[in-house]
Amino acid sequence: KNILAILGFSSIIAVIALLAVGLTQNKALPENVKYGIVLDAGSSHTSLYIYKWPAEKENDTGVVHQVEECRVKGWKVKSWQTGFWMWWRGASATTPLTSRVPGSLLAKRKKTRWFSIVPYETNNQETFGALDLGGASTQVTFVPQNQTIESPDNALQFRLYGKDYNVYTHSFLCYGKDQALWQKLAKDIQVASNEILRDPCFHPGYKKVVNVSDLYKTPCTKRFEMTLPFQQFEIQGIGNYQQCHQSILELFNTSYCPYSQCAFNGIFLPPLQGDFGAFSAFYFVMKFLNLTSEKVSQEKVTEMMKKFCAQPWEEIKTSYAGVKEKYLSEYCFSGTYILSLLLQGYHFTADSWEHIHFIGKIQGSDAGWTLGYMLNLTNMIPAEQPLSTPLSHS
Ligand code: AMP
Repeated sequence: KNILAILGFSSIIAVIALLAVGLTQNKALPENVKYGIVLDAGSSHTSLYIYKWPAEKENDTGVVHQVEECRVKGWKVKSWQTGFWMWWRGASATTPLTSRVPGSLLAKRKKTRWFSIVPYETNNQETFGALDLGGASTQVTFVPQNQTIESPDNALQFRLYGKDYNVYTHSFLCYGKDQALWQKLAKDIQVASNEILRDPCFHPGYKKVVNVSDLYKTPCTKRFEMTLPFQQFEIQGIGNYQQCHQSILELFNTSYCPYSQCAFNGIFLPPLQGDFGAFSAFYFVMKFLNLTSEKVSQEKVTEMMKKFCAQPWEEIKTSYAGVKEKYLSEYCFSGTYILSLLLQGYHFTADSWEHIHFIGKIQGSDAGWTLGYMLNLTNMIPAEQPLSTPLSHS
């Protein structure tokens, strides 16, 4: 078993080494290009991205292109759980003392994730905010308008193209879509009278057995943990958008706010400003639901979700036969969660909904934190304005 593990591990190292040798040796390459590799060790998957950019044009923006995305199969459950606990201990520290102590490497890496997607400039000098939804956490980042960032933890200073930016950012741990679902289940099973959980976030006729040990395995359900008189329970879908929405809202504590305004759980959030790109699971879910078009209003999205959640599970299965059942069964919850998070969590409104752009790709590259991270590493977002015209003697 150990030998197999070592073999497996070394082959991975070998592949990386071969890539490194192949990409860096002095042999003339057909084009004068550079390559970079970024690994996204997500909570539900691992992806490897290969980027490419022209070697001579390092000060030009928008020239980093993704050449490949490779999803790594397997090898995820144990490592993400270990990583998640490590991250939790670094990242969830709230006391002034611990917040001054540098976190673990993982905490730093994870931190890079949410602020590496810096809002980028468009032609009219406006910035774009970023909304990222993963399985374990979700991030919101934008440049607020002339607003002081009341909590230092949420403030980032950036100098880009000769201009200073005050960036607001926050990562809500346990509010990614998988952990939010675990939280909701742990909360709702507290008041169930037996081992049947009638759940409005799943389609009518849907049934699934859940182990209580799995429910309490994650730190995200700690606050709802209690001794239950059974070891397993069965989710029985009843498909009701309104009730699902109400149940999700109970995950957001809005009863206290030590700042002028908050998102939820006492976390500062300045008034929303400008346009936002919403990617990763925001995009996957909205794309499946066919709701990414700029023309779809928030009211229409809600109306579509009501219909979708009410559809019987058998009907859903036959209509979308090719879709992975785990994803398919959760689109009602995920769509409802996205609406709740954006509207009640971040305070988008029916009017400001049109400023949210669900995006999958940016000029052929997958939209996500890895692209921003690569751009940042390559210094393609210079702090100062790139020199354009040389000074003349006249
Ligand atoms: P992470 O692995 O933490 O980056 O999280 C990615 C999230 O996106 C997880 O909640 C996945 O379940 C979810 N996801 C990935 N692909 C799809 C898809 N095609 N449909 C729905 N959810 C997806």
